[in-house]
Amino acid sequence: MNKRSALLILALSTAVVGCSTSSKPARPSIEQTKIEVPTPVVTKPTVRYTQNVREVTSKLKVLPGRWKMIICHHSALVKGNAATYDKEHRKRGMENGLAYHFVIGNGVDSGDGEIEISSRWIKQIKGGHVRDDAVNEVAIGICLVGNLDEKKPTDNQIAALKELLVYLRDEVVGAPILFKIHCEADPQHTVCPGKHFPTEEMRSLFAPPPPPQPQPASANTASPAPRFAPVRRAAK
Ligand SMILES: [Zn+2]
Repeated sequence: MNKRSALLILALSTAVVGCSTSSKPARPSIEQTKIEVPTPVVTKPTVRYTQNVREVTSKLKVLPGRWKMIICHHSALVKGNAATYDKEHRKRGMENGLAYHFVIGNGVDSGDGEIEISSRWIKQIKGGHVRDDAVNEVAIGICLVGNLDEKKPTDNQIAALKELLVYLRDEVVGAPILFKIHCEADPQHTVCPGKHFPTEEMRSLFAPPPPPQPQPASANTASPAPRFAPVRRAAK
């Protein structure tokens, strides 16, 4: 074994120890620091919660402008997941089952921050999550499991929701999209998604529409109508 191989083995064994979460990484010796460090590989940004959504959505045809808003809900139940809510909604007479497009788990009956995808998303059909069917037609419904009127969502639910909103906004809907919470769509009928829903934090991801630009002075009120210079023909 030559000196370079020995150093490489030493470096690799140190790297394995460094992966352990319980021990501090060993401080490299002066000898080790002489080993050439390979050029770092540029990786894509980390996708922590939306991996599954991305895989499924990449196979769908989402028409630009198909969706005009995203409406957030809570389930008002401590327990549950997409499957249990689907059953419940079918019992209530919804032939397409689960009224939302996505359900974000709280760690009780699905993973903490797990994003479950509804068949409505896969089929790209309207939701059933607000009263006005014209709104259901154009609004993606996202539900956080939990009673957020009594308890905050988990950190993972918030992080998953943010990642999902940004993904939908930037990579899926293909047009400007509005953000709403359920009680803004149905103010008389619900407190959904509850007082602990981080409304402003999520709304801040969606810039308000720009104020209308002042119109340039019209020809009647300001400068006289422009006079057009005669078109010169190029000499032959
Ligand atoms: Zn709701």
